[in-house]
Amino acid sequence: MQQAQILTGGRWHAAHSGQTLALVDPSVGAPLAAIARGGAPDIDAAVISARHAFETHWEITPAVERGRHLARMAALMAAAADELARLESRDTGKPLKQSRVDATVAARYFEYYAGAADKIQGDTIPFLPGHQAFTLREPHGVTGHIIPWNYPLQMGARTVAAALCAGNALVLKPAEEACLTVMRIAELALEAGIPPDVINIVTGLGEEAGAALAAHPGIDHICFTGSPAVGALVQKAAADHNRSCTMELGGKSPQIVFADADWDKALPTVLGAIVQNAGQTCSAGSRLLVERSIYDDFVAETAKRFAKIKVGAWESDPDCGPVISEIQRARVRGFIDTAAADGIPILAQAEIDAGAAAGGYYVTPTLYGPVPRGNRLAKEEVFGPVLSAIPFDDEDDAIRLANDTDYGLTAGVWTENGGRQMRLGKALKCGQVFVNCYGAGGGVELPFGGMKRSGFGREKGLEAVHDLTVCKTVIIKHD
Ligand code: NAD
Repeated sequence: MQQAQILTGGRWHAAHSGQTLALVDPSVGAPLAAIARGGAPDIDAAVISARHAFETHWEITPAVERGRHLARMAALMAAAADELARLESRDTGKPLKQSRVDATVAARYFEYYAGAADKIQGDTIPFLPGHQAFTLREPHGVTGHIIPWNYPLQMGARTVAAALCAGNALVLKPAEEACLTVMRIAELALEAGIPPDVINIVTGLGEEAGAALAAHPGIDHICFTGSPAVGALVQKAAADHNRSCTMELGGKSPQIVFADADWDKALPTVLGAIVQNAGQTCSAGSRLLVERSIYDDFVAETAKRFAKIKVGAWESDPDCGPVISEIQRARVRGFIDTAAADGIPILAQAEIDAGAAAGGYYVTPTLYGPVPRGNRLAKEEVFGPVLSAIPFDDEDDAIRLANDTDYGLTAGVWTENGGRQMRLGKALKCGQVFVNCYGAGGGVELPFGGMKRSGFGREKGLEAVHDLTVCKTVIIKHD
């Protein structure tokens, strides 16, 4: 069985407590690997290592050199894509074709931020006569990163690549449910020649290692990706030291289908947006909002395709794998149970492959509709393969309905009407609006993040570099 250890100062070691935690293979429900159960002393050592890196060499490493480190990393990641994809599938249960996309996108993050490292610049500002004013964008120093289990490979890569590009040294706490590819990224970083104390990784439980990282006074900025509830705890801990945060939280994203939509384009994407990673995607298209005049027909066609979704073990490369854990399966089943109690009609269900292991954490993908607007299926994040169809009357109603949740992460709009494309692009209260497409293949260049309960700050694109640096203004009075 694989063992994952803690990485501080380029050295792999056990937790200070000597304790370990089991990672479970979600496809079969049996132990897959052991990870170190890091805690406060391990976080402390990791922060000291990152601080030392930042102050002794990383801060003064020329930007072009940082970019070269990232470029070497991108090449190693691309070369290891097949291995990384298989490891991700074993750890998370996601179908291999989805992990292959994750591996490609993960390498792209390093490629993208390699090119950005020497293009981080400030402004000159017209000011009073006899003065010269300009801004510098400087790294925070030591950044703390907490990521979830649903896309460890992509999220590990995106947050590490952007932080290093911006010139920070970092401490990362991956999720206790799945983190093997994050550890592999760290190994590749050492191979790529990235200085060993710049990336420090502490595995462990959220309430132990995660909480210790969020509360650590030596962390200058926190990037958190996870649930809104834990995000709030992390913000409270960071507030004790008045530290800034980036919060990437949940979503209840709509797919809005107007009567003039191109069905051939919309249907496969609508399905893929909820089935991908068994619905455990922050930007899952979990609400299907359809204009009333086509509602019955469009939803009937969706149901026909939905029933054919293949659910099984990752090796057979189905459309949908298991969810991550027994806890997650119970959460999703809780929604299915309350939907039954509320009498919400089931429009389609897919079958779980008969060959899938009995111990695996499979749930039956389910399409509901029409879901009443106030029902929890229309409002709350399920984080499972559950799609809620709801009719709307016209454009204004679609906007009202789409914005009627606490979340605001992404939205998909399906219409051939150019004016409407522009109007919805502006009216939807969320961080990304896709028109006649969704997800856009990873889109490492596209700033990503939420409004409302979906969080604040941005990852991806140059916005991430902005959030991972601070603006300093220098004013020189000269004669
Ligand atoms: P979670 O909040 O339970 O866990 C996320 C991370 O936080 C894990 O590493 C966990 O160990 C850590 N953690 C848990 N308790 C902690 C604490 N008290 N202090 C510090 N850290 C702690 O979330 P999850 O169930 O793992 O992930 C699902 C959630 O993440 C969903 O809401 C999903 O939408 C969201 N998510 C958002 C994005 C995004 O980019 N917006 C991406 C993926 C997932």
